[in-house]
This record gives sequence, structure tokens and C-alpha cells, in this order.
Amino acid sequence: MNILLIGSGGREHALAWAISSSPLCDKLFIAPGNPGTAQCGENVVLDIADHRAVADFCKLMGVGLVVVGPEGPLVEGITDDLEAAGIKTFGPSKAAAQLEGSKAFTKELCAEFGIPTAGFARFTDEAAARAYVAKTGAPLVIKADGLAAGKGVVMAETVEQANDALAMMFSGGLGAAGAEVVIEEWMIGEEASFFALCDGTHALPLASAQDHKRVGDGDTGPNTGGMGAYSPAPVMTQAMEEQVMAQIVRPTLAGMHQRGTPFKGVLFAGLMITADGPKLIEYNTRFGDPECEVLMPRLKSDIVPALLAARDGVLNAVDLRWSDKVALTVVMAAKGYPGTPEKGSVIKGIDKAAAEKDVLVFHAGTQAKDGDIVANGGRVLNIVALGKSVSEAQAKAYAAVDLIDWPGGFCRRDIGWQAVKREREG
Ligand code: AMP
Repeated sequence: MNILLIGSGGREHALAWAISSSPLCDKLFIAPGNPGTAQCGENVVLDIADHRAVADFCKLMGVGLVVVGPEGPLVEGITDDLEAAGIKTFGPSKAAAQLEGSKAFTKELCAEFGIPTAGFARFTDEAAARAYVAKTGAPLVIKADGLAAGKGVVMAETVEQANDALAMMFSGGLGAAGAEVVIEEWMIGEEASFFALCDGTHALPLASAQDHKRVGDGDTGPNTGGMGAYSPAPVMTQAMEEQVMAQIVRPTLAGMHQRGTPFKGVLFAGLMITADGPKLIEYNTRFGDPECEVLMPRLKSDIVPALLAARDGVLNAVDLRWSDKVALTVVMAAKGYPGTPEKGSVIKGIDKAAAEKDVLVFHAGTQAKDGDIVANGGRVLNIVALGKSVSEAQAKAYAAVDLIDWPGGFCRRDIGWQAVKREREG
């Protein structure tokens, strides 16, 4: 069958790499894709916001499955519109994508179905929110309800910081995303990401990962989309995974089904492993980026039948095999990121790095220009390595990073540091 993949990041290059290796995939189109996905299929220019145009393209090209990478089109209802046009689409409906699109929606679902998460209160009025903060005291976490490109969460250590965040959000600093604010209890523990494939009624556990949000070594500096990740997360033991499936993932699926908005697609749970067990921080309704770049290289089974089964509601018949190896990715970003990244600098050595044993290079913000690959975004390349341990994967990844000749870029030098420390301490 022909498959259309939507998106242009490192996540989509990793997905394109996995999908294109499937015997079920005749031809893969990626819209808009990047120079990396062009090695796995054909990049096409399509206005993703124009769902009718996407449907017309699928009919013309005989596309039998659309796979949606990023959250934006899901929240805009691309799955609903393509399915209505008779095109099989992997990804949640607009109603189900609210699990990512609205924090208040997810918190209410947790409350209704007994899913462990941080205590919370919702506000649409600044004065009421300030009164709550005054009564509760700090620390607190202040969150804009809607999608805010990673800027919608403020960890307030003092009442003053909490009030400043409320003032920023209620004065429109985050646009419509901040019209409603959720105030949460500050949870303590170790964070991990856990991914499950869902078909509306069944959930199939995928794998866990840990990412690194801060731009600087030692987890310092501003937040980013993610500077690196590794999978599996050591804190996600088999027992913990079963607990997360039983207490968080399956009740969510049952709740969404009961509400008449069954969830199909990738459920990406951001978790805090607290002294009282795992608690949900938030949901995303698609693969993470860069987490996808460490999940795909560990997947030994064909991904396409699993994506189709999730769409068709028959995931109970699917079994996926995973490599025991650790995958670790280092994100290389353009200087200036996460502020204003410098565009246009030439990157050399990508082929050399990708030729290393157990190494893959996934493109994100790159562009092909006059025979060169140049930087065209914030996060530009993912250097992924597989190893028997986090330490080994890390060493291989950085050896490959050092083969990249790109004065206009930078990366963190300590991806996986917590796990490496743990391995050293035995
Ligand atoms: P979110 O966008 O909701 O995932 O939040 C971004 C980051 O803020 C998370 O990865 C956590 O590090 C942190 N965070 C969010 N909510 C809480 C909470 N209730 N307690 C502690 N940390 C949190």
C-alpha cells in the first residue's frame, strides 16, 4: 500500500525510516518532510491545514494509510476529516486529541476515573486564581490550559512567581491557550515517558524513554523541545510498566470510550514516579520528538501492521518485539536555539557519522541547498546510537557527533547522565 506521513521533524524521519522498511509499504510520501525523509520516500508539498487537499492527494495517489506525526493537525481534526473522506488515518480524532490539547480536560478525566495525578484546580478568573495561591501557598505549578509550544508551564517556587505567571497568562501572554489556567500540586520524583499504542479499546505497551528538556549540560538553562533522550528508562521496570498500564493507560482508554470519544493513536504519558507510585503529569497524543528517534531503532517488528491494527480496532492481535539494547539520541541544534536559531550554516560529515556501526542520523531542521545540507531550524539533527548500556550508547553517539563538522551548531555533552551515573554506581 502507499502511505502518507505528515510532518517534518526528527520524529518523522525516524517514522519514515521504520515505515519504509515494511514489506507492506509500496510507496511512502512525506508532507512536507525534510532531506532525511527524502532518503526513505518522496517528499511532497501539500497544505496540511487544507484537509480536503490532503484527501484529494491521497485519492489521486492511492494512499491506503495516513500517519500523522505532530499534534497540531490532530487537534485541528485532520483524522476526522480524512476518515470522513474514506481515508484510513492513524491518529486520534479531534475530540480524543483533547487529551493533549486541553490540560483541564485531562485533569477532569483523571478525577472522574481515578487516574493518579497531581491535585489541581481550574480558573478562568485571575482574582480567584490569586486567592487560591494565597490560600495554598507555594510551591505550585501554573499551567496554561491550551497548547503553548512548551511555554505554558511555570514551576513557581514562591507565591510571587505564581502570581507573575497568572498575570502573564491572564493578560494574554500565551494567547488563547492561557484563557484558562490549571494550578497543580508540585510533585516530587523521577520523570519518565511511556508510550502505548491504542485502538479505542485495547492498549499495547510500546516502550519508555527519558528526555532532556533543558538546553544546557547538567539540566541548566531554558527549556527546549528536547535536547536528547534514551530508551528504555531505567526507572520503568517491568513491574512499574504494568502498574502504569493498569492504573493510568487502561483507565484512560476506558474513560475515553465511555465518554463516546474513543482514543486511537499513540498515547504518550509524561509520568512522575513518586514515592506513592506513578502519577500522570500530562498526556501527548502522538510520538514524542526526540523520543521517537530512540523508540524506532529498538523496534524489531514491522510497525505498519501495528499502525493499521490501531486504526482498525484490532490491536489485541498484535505483538511487538523490542531490542534489549539501549538507544540514545543527541540532538544537535543551531546556535541561538531555543531563542532565535541561526539559519543557513553548512553541515558536513553527516554521511561519515551515519556510516558508523550502530549509529543512525535522523534529520530535523535541515535543508538541501546547492548540494549541501544547511541548518534550517532550531533542532537540526539527531545522532542516535544503540548499545548494551546507556554508557555504551552514549559513547557511540558522541563519537559519531564528533564526526559532524558544523561550527554553526551545538549539542549537550551529557545526554543520559543520570542513567550513566546509576550504571557506574552499579
Ligand atoms: P508538561 O508540559 O505538563 O509536561 O510540563 C512540563 C514539565 O514541567 C514536566 O516535564 C515536569 O518536569 C514539570 N511539571 C509539570 N507539572 C508538574 C507537577 N505537577 N509537578 C512537578 N513537575 C511538573
